[in-house]
Amino acid sequence: MPQEIKLRPHHGLCIQFFEGKGYDEAFTLNMTQIIAQLETENNLINLTPDCDVLCAACPNNMGGVCTDNEKVASIDKRTLNTSGLDIFRKILWSEYKKLLKDEIIETGRLKEVCRNCCWSRICLVKGSEQLRSN
Ligand code: SF4
Ligand code: SF4
Repeated sequence: MPQEIKLRPHHGLCIQFFEGKGYDEAFTLNMTQIIAQLETENNLINLTPDCDVLCAACPNNMGGVCTDNEKVASIDKRTLNTSGLDIFRKILWSEYKKLLKDEIIETGRLKEVCRNCCWSRICLVKGSEQLRSN
């Protein structure tokens, strides 16, 4: 039985645009490993409002709380609202990934969902590329 993994809702989007860069080396290595695990094991995701498996190696995680929690919580909320899921919902990684792709990336809603993220310009370009390649 694959391990259950806690994931902040918006991290399901960040994972889909990850290109091997992050806050620092430890964060990038951890994110690379978690993505490989998700893709290999198709884990059950537990959508959490708190720090998750990616936050575990993030320099912005101060004692289990994100230093930018107000902003990331707003992106989490819009991710859930747009995909029609509730917090603490458990869902297979493959289903969650597809849901976010169908409801947010391919509908062009990424711009609104990620509107206050400092990386949004990069992710929006990648999202548009995904749309064009379909
Ligand atoms: S601690 Fe904050 S900035 Fe770091 S990965 Fe988690 S939500 Fe993102
Ligand atoms: S814009 Fe920010 S929150 Fe949205 S997918 Fe990219 S890194 Fe994640």
